[in-house]
Amino acid sequence: MFRRTKTAFQKLRRLSSNGHQHTWRPRSISAKERAPQYHASARERALQYQPGQKIHGFTVKEVVPVPDLFLTAVRLTHDKTGAQYLHAARDDSNNLFSVQFRTTPMDSTGVPHILEHTVLCGSERYPCRDPFFKMLNRSLSTFMNAFTASDYTMYPFSTQNGKDFQNLLSVYLDAVFFPCLREQDFWQEGWRLENEIPTDPTSPLVFKGVVFNEMKGAFSDNEQLYAQHLQNKLFPDHTYSVVSGGEPLAIPDLSWEQLKHFHATHYHPSNARFFTYGDLPLDEHLKQIEDEALSRFDRTEPNTQVPPQPHWTSPREEHVTCSPDAMAPDPAKQNTLCISYLLGDITDTFEAFTLSLLSSLMISGPNSPFYKALIEPKLGTDFSSVVGYDGSTKEASFSVGLQGMAEEDMERVKQIINQTIDDIIVNGFEEERIEALLHKIEIQMKHQSTSFGLTLASYIASCWNHDGDPVHLLQISDSVSKFRQALKENPRFLQDKVQRYFKENTHRLTLSMSPNEAYLENQAKAEEEKLQQKIQSLSDSDRRDVYEKGLELLAAQSKTQDASCLPALMVSDIEPTIPITPVEMGTAGRIPVQYCEQPTNGMVYFRAMCSLNTLPEDLKIYAPLFCSVITKMGCGSLDYRQQAQQIDLKTGGMSISTQVIPDSAQLDMYEQGVLLFSSCLERNLPDMLHLWSSIFNSPHFDDEERLRVLVMMSAQELANGISYSGHMYAMTRAGRSLSPAGELHEMFGGMEQVKFMKRIAEMSDLGPVLRSLPRIKKHLLNPEGMRCAVNATPQKMSDVATRLDGFMKDIACNRKDRKVVRPHIIERQFDPSAAAGSGPSRKLISEPSFHPCQMKTFFPMPFPINFVSECVRTVPFVHEDYASLCVLARMMTAKFLHGEIREKGGAYGGGARMGGGGLFSFYSYRDPNSVQTLSAFRKGVDWARTGQFSQQDIDEAKLSVFSAVDSPVAPADKGMSRFLSGITDEMKQSHRERLFTVTDKNLQDVAGRYLGVGQRTCGVAILGPENETVKKDPSWIVK
Ligand SMILES: [Zn+2]
Repeated sequence: MFRRTKTAFQKLRRLSSNGHQHTWRPRSISAKERAPQYHASARERALQYQPGQKIHGFTVKEVVPVPDLFLTAVRLTHDKTGAQYLHAARDDSNNLFSVQFRTTPMDSTGVPHILEHTVLCGSERYPCRDPFFKMLNRSLSTFMNAFTASDYTMYPFSTQNGKDFQNLLSVYLDAVFFPCLREQDFWQEGWRLENEIPTDPTSPLVFKGVVFNEMKGAFSDNEQLYAQHLQNKLFPDHTYSVVSGGEPLAIPDLSWEQLKHFHATHYHPSNARFFTYGDLPLDEHLKQIEDEALSRFDRTEPNTQVPPQPHWTSPREEHVTCSPDAMAPDPAKQNTLCISYLLGDITDTFEAFTLSLLSSLMISGPNSPFYKALIEPKLGTDFSSVVGYDGSTKEASFSVGLQGMAEEDMERVKQIINQTIDDIIVNGFEEERIEALLHKIEIQMKHQSTSFGLTLASYIASCWNHDGDPVHLLQISDSVSKFRQALKENPRFLQDKVQRYFKENTHRLTLSMSPNEAYLENQAKAEEEKLQQKIQSLSDSDRRDVYEKGLELLAAQSKTQDASCLPALMVSDIEPTIPITPVEMGTAGRIPVQYCEQPTNGMVYFRAMCSLNTLPEDLKIYAPLFCSVITKMGCGSLDYRQQAQQIDLKTGGMSISTQVIPDSAQLDMYEQGVLLFSSCLERNLPDMLHLWSSIFNSPHFDDEERLRVLVMMSAQELANGISYSGHMYAMTRAGRSLSPAGELHEMFGGMEQVKFMKRIAEMSDLGPVLRSLPRIKKHLLNPEGMRCAVNATPQKMSDVATRLDGFMKDIACNRKDRKVVRPHIIERQFDPSAAAGSGPSRKLISEPSFHPCQMKTFFPMPFPINFVSECVRTVPFVHEDYASLCVLARMMTAKFLHGEIREKGGAYGGGARMGGGGLFSFYSYRDPNSVQTLSAFRKGVDWARTGQFSQQDIDEAKLSVFSAVDSPVAPADKGMSRFLSGITDEMKQSHRERLFTVTDKNLQDVAGRYLGVGQRTCGVAILGPENETVKKDPSWIVK
C-alpha cells in the first residue's frame, strides 16, 4: 500500500473523533477477558523500569508517565545495533506492534514500495509464498498492514490475543529482516514483461505487476496526482522530489539487484524504530525481538538522513496537467491552484504544534479567514486536495488554494491568498476560536478509539523518523500550556508567525493544474513507447525467457500451497461466548431511550434515530443533502458562523446521516431513517442538547448562497471519492435491483446520489432546493417515531436522563402524526425482551411484492482501471445458512479469488463478502481486467461447490471471520447493533455458535444452492474505462 500521509495531527483528529464519517456496521463485542496478571495496571508496571536498566540487549533510556493519554512511555535503545524502541504501556488489550525503517529513495522506480510488497512474500523461517496474506487467516489480528510513506516504510499489526501477538511478531520480524526476495516475487509484485495471455507465446507482450497497476490507479486519481506534484516540486533537491510509491513509467527501470541492495542498506536494525503499545509485558517483546532478529546483526551507518531543503530566494510557479473528470460538477471549472509554503523542521515539536494550530485557525470551518475569502465567493468548488499543515516531510509545509475553478480566476485566487495573509497579520484571530481549537484537543485526548495504538504509531512516525523526540510529542498538554503562555506573553504571537512563515517566506510554490483532453491518450502513448523500448531490446532468447518465466509464475501461482510452516491460532483458541453489554431501557417524554454505562473518560455520546417513513417519495433523494447541510445553515439566534463556533466550543461534532437498515429476518424489509450523532464533555451536555433543540425548532433555510457553498463542496467530495472507493460504488450498484434496501442504499449512497448531487451543483437557481428543505425537515426532525441512545459514565447517567427529559419537552412542538407514505409497515419491539405490543417499537417498511431482477450496469470512467462487482441475493442474518455464507466468503477470498484476481490478474485487490442485508458480493479493486474478473467470480463458485478445499482452509476462514466479529468496540459504540438493528447479544451468540459448527458440506451446499448458475438472482456493475466487450453485449446498460 502506498500512502501520502496527511499531517499526523489531522490524522489523530480524524481517527479519534469518529463523528463525521461514522458509518455503522454490525459488530460484536470483544470476547477477550484480560488475563489476571495484566489486571494490575500496565501503566503502573511500566513505571518500575529504571533508566540505565539492561533488558534483553536493550538499555532503558527514559520512563515517562503521560497522564493525558493514560499511558507510560518507556524509551530504549538496542545496545549492539543502535535500534530505537518506544513502548507505550496502557490498559488496552488491543496491543500493537510496528517497525519502521527510514527509506529515502533517490529515484521514482518505487523501490521502497516494491520492497514493502516483496518482503511480505516469504522469508527464511517462513519460506511459503505470501505469509503475510496467509496470516490474515491464521490469526485474530485486529489490524495488519504495511505502508510506504515518502520517507519511511512501516509494518504495523494489532491483536487482542497474547499468543497471536507472538505469532505475528515472529512473522513480521522474519519478513522485514530475513526476506527471501525471490526473483519471482519481484516480477509478481513489482513489474514484468509478459505475454498478455501467459500460455500463448504469440500474444503481445505487456507490462504486468501489482505495484505497477496499483500506481497506475493512484496516478489516475487527480487529487493524489496533484499532491504528488506539489511535494515533488516544493522539495526539489532530495528524496521528496521523487515518487516513493513509484511512477508507473519509471517502475520498469528497477532491477531485482537494485531491490536487494536497497533492502540490505535500509532494512537494518541500525535504521529501524520499533514501537509497541498495550497491556502485554514489554520484557517479552524485547526478548523475542532480540532472540529472533536483532542478535544476528551488528551496527551499521545507514546514512539515510534527509538534509534540510535549501531555501529559495524567490517564489516559484509551476503548471501540470491531468485528465478531465467526467463527474466534476462543472466541466468548465476543473482547474486547481494552490500556494504552498515551506515551514520549519518537524522535530521542533512545539513549533510544529503551534504551526499546526495556526493552520487550523487559518483554514478550518466557516469562521476561518481562508474559508471566508476563498470558499464563500464560490470561485472554486472546494479547497485544493492539499490544504493546511502537512508534517509528513522533514520540514513541514502549509498549502492553501482551490479546486474546481475556471482558468480565468487563477490570478484572482493568487491575489486573494496574498491579501488574506496580510489581513491575518493585521487582525489576528478571535480568542473564542482559539479556545474552540484547544477544546477540540481536549476532546481528542479523552475520546477512546479502538485503534488508539495505531493512531499513536502514525502520530509519532514522521517526527521520530527524523530523530525528533517521540515522547515529547505525546505530552500534548505541555504543548497546550506552553502555547497559552506564549499567547499571554505576546498577543501578536500568532500574527508574528504568519509574518515570518507566510508573508516573508520566499520558499513558496504556486502550482496550478488543468485538465487536458489528450491526457489519458498521452499517458497510454508514453506507456506504449516504454513498452516498445523494452521489447526492442529483447533478443529471441530473451523473448523465450519472458514466455517461460510467465509460465513458471503462472505455475507457481496455481500450485497448491503449503503454509504449514506458519504459526496459527486454532479455532479452539476462540472464545466460545461473547460478554453481554448491559443496557437499560428508559423513556424521556414518550421517547424510548437506551442507556449504556461505559468508561468514557467523561465524554457523553448521544444518538437519535428519526424515521423517514412519512417523507414523500419525490423528496427522498434529497435526504442525504438535507443531512449534510442541516447542522451547517444556522439555527435559532445563531447564524451559520456562530453555530459552527458553538459546535466547536461545546461538542466533539454534530452530524446527521441517512440510514438504511436491513431487517435481520426478512430480505424485503428494512428500516429507513436518519441518525443524529454528537458527543461532548460532560460539562457541556446542556449546551449540546440546546444546539440540537435549536436545529429541531428553528433551523435556518433562508441563505441560498450558503447552501450553494455546501452543495458544491459535497458534490466535489463525492466526485473525488469514486476513484478511491470505486468498489463500494460498484457493489452498491450491483445490489440495487436485488432487495428494497439495496435500492434505497443506491439512492442514498451510490452512483445515483453522486449524479444527483452533480446535477444539483450545476443548477443556476437553488431556490427550489432551498424551499424543499423545510418540507423535508417537517418529516425527518419529528419526535414521533424517534428513539435515542446515550453512552456515558455511570455517575453521569441520572443527570443525562433529566437533561433528555428537558430536551424532549423543548422539541415536542415538532411532534406530528403524519401519514406513512409506503403502506406496509411492520412494527418490531424496540426492547426485544418486552412482550409484543407492550412498549415502543421500530417501524419497518415491508415490500412483499418486491421482485429482485438481474441487472448489469456499466459506468464509463476516466481512469485506466476497473472496479467490478457482482452481488447475489441470499439470506438474512438470522437464517441458518447465513453463517455458512460468511465463512464461504472469507474462504473464497483467501483461497481462490486473491490468487485469481490479484496474483494472476494483477488487480490491487479482490474478494467476496457477506453483507447484513443478505447480499453476497464479489468485488475487485483497481483491476486491469473487467469481464475476465467476472468469470473468476464464477470459477470461485465452482471451486467451492466442488469442494476443492481442506479442513485447514475452513478453519482459517473461521478465524478470519471471528477476527472481524470480535474486533474491539469503543465505549462510544457499545450497544449500537441492538439500538440500530435490534440485533441483541443473544442473537449474536446464536450466530457465533452457528459459525463454529459450519462444515465442508455446508459450504459446498450453500455455494451450489445460492451462488450456482441458475440458482442466483444477481446484479453486476463495472466502473471503468471504455470497454469493447461490454459495448458489444446488449445485456449491459451503459450509463
Ligand atoms: Zn502497495
